Order: sequence, then C-alpha cells, then structure tokens
Amino acid sequence: MSNATQARLSRLPPRTCNHDLRAYTAVVAAIERTVAKQKFLEFLGQKNLRLTSQRQAIVETVFSTDQHFTAEQLLGWSRKRDKSVSRATVYRTLPLLTESGLVREMDFGKDFKFYDPNYADHPNHSHIICDDCEKIVEFESDKITKLEDEISQQLGFAVKTQRLQITASCEALKKLGACKNKSCP
Ligand SMILES: [Zn+2]
Ligand SMILES: [Zn+2]
Repeated sequence: MSNATQARLSRLPPRTCNHDLRAYTAVVAAIERTVAKQKFLEFLGQKNLRLTSQRQAIVETVFSTDQHFTAEQLLGWSRKRDKSVSRATVYRTLPLLTESGLVREMDFGKDFKFYDPNYADHPNHSHIICDDCEKIVEFESDKITKLEDEISQQLGFAVKTQRLQITASCEALKKLGACKNKSCP
C-alpha cells in the first residue's frame, strides 16, 4: 500500500456497525410496510370494496413511504404512478386508510390534515412540526412514556393511548424568520 493510500485510509472515519444497523432497519421497515399494505387489502376485501387501478396506485404510494403527507401531496405522488388518479378517489380512500388503523390522521391546527403511515410499526411515536414549513420529525422517548404513566396513575387513570405534538420553529425559521422550503399549500 502506498503512503498516499495509507494516509487517505487513515483519514476515513472508523468503521462502525451503524451503517449495517441502518440498512437492517430499512429492510425491516420495508417488510413492515408490505405487511401493512397486505392488511389494508384484506380490510378492503372485508368491506367488499374493489381494488381499482386508481386505488391501487394510492395504496402503493401510501405503503411505500415513511413520510407524513397531506391529501394534496398524496394526490401528486399517486399521479406519478398513475396519471388517472382523481382527487375524489384520494379523498374517498383516505377515510378507509384511517378506519383500517394503518394510517393515522393528524391535526396540527392547520387548514389541512396530515396522514402518518408509520403507526403500524411505531404506535407510540410523537411529532414535532415547524410552524412555517411544516417539516415534521418523529421521536420516541421512554422518559415521556414514564412521565405520562406517573401522571395518569397519580390522577387515578390508566393510559390507553398517548399522543404528543409539539409545534415549533425549525432551524431556518429560528435563524431567518422564514423557511424557504415550504412544502405544503
Ligand atoms: Zn409519525
Ligand atoms: Zn421550518
């Protein structure tokens, strides 16, 4: 090995297993999404609803992303798969998705709702959203779960579901007073 190569290699960050862990997590998430999609198709079947090609494009879109989305975003993404997807079909399919329990509707007090496809595998996660660009970040914290349990017990309740939503300023909003990457209408 030449000295130059050795010098370059020594500048590389030490190998850790983080990369492998991320790849593994991505594979698991993809499998979980496939399972969730299958459950939704069974749900449609139980309701005797046909899987039209439009609905198929919407379902494929929803269960191939881990992004939170609005109805209009879902329409745009689904139309990339199938141009014929109509706004009406998207708005008719969303209540079915939430009724199935595989997608959750989230209200951040905006003029539109957000939809979250990540509840099937992470039922207790919380959200922080930027008030300007609507950037959403998920987080989970054992401390919060513990605190909620403690408070509920003190008040004589038992926790059934928990939902924490924080509205905040993202980095850009804090620094510049506005976010240039507004993604939502
Ligand atoms: Zn989420
Ligand atoms: Zn922002």
